[in-house]
Amino acid sequence: MRLPVYLDYHATAPVDPEVLQAMMPYFTEVFGNAASRNHEYGWTAEAAVERARQQVAKLIGATEKEIIFTSGATESNNLAIQGVAEMYKEKGNHIITSPIEHKAVLDTCHALEKKGFEITYLPVDHYGRVTAEVVRNAITPKTILVSVMAANNEIGTINPLREIGKVCKEKGVLFHTDAVQAIGKTPINVEEMGIDLLSMTAHKVYGPKGVAALYVRRKNPRVRLAAIVHGGGHERGMRSGTLNVPGIVGFGKAIEVAGRSMVEEGARIQMLRDLLWEKIQTELDEVYLNGHPTERLPGNLNVSFAYVEGESLMMGMKELAVSSGSACTSASLEPSYVLKNIGVGEDLAHTSIRFGLGRFTTQEEIEFAAKKVISTVKKLRDLSPLYEMAKEGIDLKSVNWTGH
Ligand SMILES: *Cc1c(COP(=O)(O)O)cnc(C)c1O
Repeated sequence: MRLPVYLDYHATAPVDPEVLQAMMPYFTEVFGNAASRNHEYGWTAEAAVERARQQVAKLIGATEKEIIFTSGATESNNLAIQGVAEMYKEKGNHIITSPIEHKAVLDTCHALEKKGFEITYLPVDHYGRVTAEVVRNAITPKTILVSVMAANNEIGTINPLREIGKVCKEKGVLFHTDAVQAIGKTPINVEEMGIDLLSMTAHKVYGPKGVAALYVRRKNPRVRLAAIVHGGGHERGMRSGTLNVPGIVGFGKAIEVAGRSMVEEGARIQMLRDLLWEKIQTELDEVYLNGHPTERLPGNLNVSFAYVEGESLMMGMKELAVSSGSACTSASLEPSYVLKNIGVGEDLAHTSIRFGLGRFTTQEEIEFAAKKVISTVKKLRDLSPLYEMAKEGIDLKSVNWTGH
């Protein structure tokens, strides 16, 4: 077993050996520019890119012409939201999203707010779900886009995309979803779910970092986007720049592998996730699950360990690579905005740990992790006067801390 045990698959995943193997020739022998139209080198590179485009399209029920390759889901989210905002601004200036989106969506929306767009941040329920009803009530004649994530990267909650898509279709509003965490983990079909724009990235599905895609619907309706990156007109003019051929080949292969292994792999990972949660609950009191109990990603477990500070907990179990709060905010000691928005109080939010299991997680690792978490929480609680007082039945809110 390799230490520390990697349980941070929401942040990134290693490249699958099968994916790496598929990529290798495209760094050296098959090195052509996919945009070179005049010779064999270019044609072979282009053929490889088109194969990858088909692989990516197939998993989400799209056609290959609807896939635009980008440098990351951060760029895909920017292109989707800014691209629609710029192209449809005559129609309206209102965009709807949720307060627990990834920063790549939230910061893009904040930037648009400064340019005069109006953004509605929908309320989410206690599990972090956006309901179709809430979306319906927020849509106005000025609304041009609804952007709601497929699955949350911190708490793993899966949104009712089909219902939200239906409302958007009825109202004639474009629907974008950041599906980075859901792709290859739970079935997504852009036709059945009424999705017009969808962001995904290779490195969260065992592909390489720095390559991603945006699905852009071509009919019913045909979505038009204003480009952010100009120069050369690659990717149907929506995203110029020489294509990252080896990366795209790896992305295609990673998606193909995900498509064929999703069901079986999901069941195995979920079993391990449930085992971890069961062991934690059996051995520890005052532990709380964050996110939806069933509508959640198979590899996600987000837990608040009351009376234990998340950062101290992580320091106490350096043999585990986990995350407290989201990867993007873990540099600061602000409680996670996701937990805050689903109604987890500040105290409990500071005690939360995200476990992310994935393809290479083993039962041995989970048993090791469970032991480590349980012993560390017990040790820290033994040192905690707050935990002791709570156990003695003292209502902590009634305590006069200053002694006056
Ligand atoms: C990781 C992540 C992103 C960013 O993807 P990059 O390819 O790393 O830019 C966007 N959204 C969600 C939900 C993510 O988990």
